[in-house]
Amino acid sequence: MPNSVNSIVLKLFTTKESLKQHLLQLKASNKTIGFVPTMGALHQGHISLIELAKQQNDVTVCSIFVNPSQFNDPKDLEKYPRTIEADTELLEQVKADILFYPGVSEIYDDNEQWHLDIGETEHLLEGEFRPGHYQGVTQVVYKLFNIVKPDTAYFGQKDYQQFLIISKMVDMLHMPVKLIMCPIKREPDGLAMSSRNIHLTADDRKHALILSKTLNWVKDNFDSHNIPALKKEAGLMISAEPGVELDYFEIANGDDLHQADKNAKTIVALVAAKVGKTRLIDNVVLK
Ligand code: AMP
Repeated sequence: MPNSVNSIVLKLFTTKESLKQHLLQLKASNKTIGFVPTMGALHQGHISLIELAKQQNDVTVCSIFVNPSQFNDPKDLEKYPRTIEADTELLEQVKADILFYPGVSEIYDDNEQWHLDIGETEHLLEGEFRPGHYQGVTQVVYKLFNIVKPDTAYFGQKDYQQFLIISKMVDMLHMPVKLIMCPIKREPDGLAMSSRNIHLTADDRKHALILSKTLNWVKDNFDSHNIPALKKEAGLMISAEPGVELDYFEIANGDDLHQADKNAKTIVALVAAKVGKTRLIDNVVLK
């Protein structure tokens, strides 16, 4: 017999008003809200964020919204994987409480043009290769934070630069939310989990391993080599891999993503490359 006492039903909201009303009631009874914003095509990386949110909060909200304003390439937006049925099943399995799944017109008015100036960090690395990307990210996260008003929001280290940008926005605007960065979930062979991995052909999948392999090599050799030598060797390793086209490999100060020297408090190696037709990113904290 099903145990109805323990069964938790995922509540689905598609409008911001209905979600706000529901959350108001929960907050009135002092429930804490953990929030995991996603673009769907959920995998174990997303699920690890949801599990942590569940451990640390009374109520866990996951949003699935493929945010048009963060795609500088319309074709990339069009082919972004959308798997809402499988996503809903996963969220039920992991016992998330609430799914917010709005349409575009629920989030944006026609032709919305405003942006937040977060400063230099948004124009480096990903910002350089995807102009306007972080404007879109801050727009949507600002809006989602205002709808959900979470106590704590969970983001992956996988998008290291995104975490820095959102932290900056939260500081600048004094938004009352705590941010937590969660470790990168990887496939057993080292490939960082990503919704985009679905697009990799069998050959791409093999070649894609060069990214995590190179990051690991840099981590293992960090103490014995200087930074220019590490960067040079990493660039050579990736460029030698068939079917892989490097956008950048950077060893950066973890606080602002400018080029690091070895005295920096936090140092991160970050990579972006096209593997076949699919653009992947990955990183590792070196110090
Ligand atoms: P996305 O759906 O790609 O926008 O990702 C939603 C959230 O999941 C972001 O905070 C990502 O950084 C995080 N995320 C994506 N992939 C991973 C991963 N492999 N491990 C941990 N977190 C991840």
